Amino acid sequence: MTSYISHLECTVCGKNYPHEQLIGISPCCEKVLFARYDLAKLGREVDRDVFVSRPDTMWRYAELLPVNDPDNIVTLGEGGTPLIKSHNLAEQLGMRNLYIKEEGLNPTGTFKARGISAAVSKAVELKVDGFTMPSAGNAAGAAAAYGARSGMETKVFMPQDAPDSNKKETLVAGSELNLVQGLINDAGREAVAVAKELGFFDLSTLKEPYRAEGKKSMGLEMVQQLGWKMPDAIIYPTGGGTGIIGMYKGFKELLELGWIEGKQPKFISIQADGCQPVVRAFNEGADSSQMWENATTKADGLRVPHPFADYLILEAIRATGGTAIAVSDQEMIDAMYEMATAEGIFPAPEGAATLVGLKKLLDQKFLDPEESVVLFNTGSGYKYLDLISGTKRS
Ligand SMILES: *Cc1c(COP(=O)(O)O)cnc(C)c1O
Ligand SMILES: [Zn+2]
Repeated sequence: MTSYISHLECTVCGKNYPHEQLIGISPCCEKVLFARYDLAKLGREVDRDVFVSRPDTMWRYAELLPVNDPDNIVTLGEGGTPLIKSHNLAEQLGMRNLYIKEEGLNPTGTFKARGISAAVSKAVELKVDGFTMPSAGNAAGAAAAYGARSGMETKVFMPQDAPDSNKKETLVAGSELNLVQGLINDAGREAVAVAKELGFFDLSTLKEPYRAEGKKSMGLEMVQQLGWKMPDAIIYPTGGGTGIIGMYKGFKELLELGWIEGKQPKFISIQADGCQPVVRAFNEGADSSQMWENATTKADGLRVPHPFADYLILEAIRATGGTAIAVSDQEMIDAMYEMATAEGIFPAPEGAATLVGLKKLLDQKFLDPEESVVLFNTGSGYKYLDLISGTKRS
């Protein structure tokens, strides 16, 4: 089990960089860097069936993850989450192949654990001194946990109105918590400045190449769980876009390896009414987004007013014939009850938003009930108990 990583590549101009050095965004274009692998060699040397017998964490896909020496892996058992076939919601909606990828079962209660495990592990391999992490919420909790596990200092920067659960999980894991006036973008500016000053690795979304690699593992796992087949559509709540970008990249790699066949699922991006820069850019036919002013939503994972990797999110949606729509906070909260009542899965509002999106797109006939669809519940509702009134709904 060893990584086939070969180099890093600028997503705009294609310039290559070595992966043996600490590097965030591409120096050439100041855009996202992707990790690249020697897929020809991997395809010759490894059979996809080897993954099935390995322990059920995302590191079973070590060949397609960026860490060379397994001793550097910082793990809390992330990944290996169930793909739950829906019975009750599917029946209500007249569908036969509806699934929920239950990412709420990850360490720290969200899929953020996957990306942070990958980035922290690679940073350990490159011998950094510590981490900075700007976060709207859940990424901070994950950074604090994996920072603690790695034994390295972690400084978290959060909007001051971030959820209590995220502040507390950060503090309880021993990270320094800095509350910032403003939104995630403001927190990001501070984190970068401190990282520069101290020589720390800044874990900002897609401003380093490795978190997307960890999130890619959601897609690898999902196709393996479907018997090495892709669904017709993936509905994904989109903030910074790491999940969509990572999975789209991962499917390309699997296709190039010849481990799967067919066409990529339609990527459907769900955002909040109060913060929908990707939806607006998609509808305008633009290649990048504009800052969404006065962003508000209770789904903190979606409160990203100007995603740095907007151009890559839009590419994944358009190249796969997907779409992007927004839903209201109230619809999300109602759908938290609905998913929990119908399937026993208590989703984060972000995950519940995918159910709202599914219904709207069936109504609009963008999706057909015959299609196979995977909803991503990106986090656990247990982190958002303040959104739940505590009374039963019929
Ligand atoms: C961060 C977060 C998102 C958005 O994730 P991206 O992949 O960066 O777009 C969605 N849901 C939850 C629960 C989150 O914490
Ligand atoms: Zn470039």
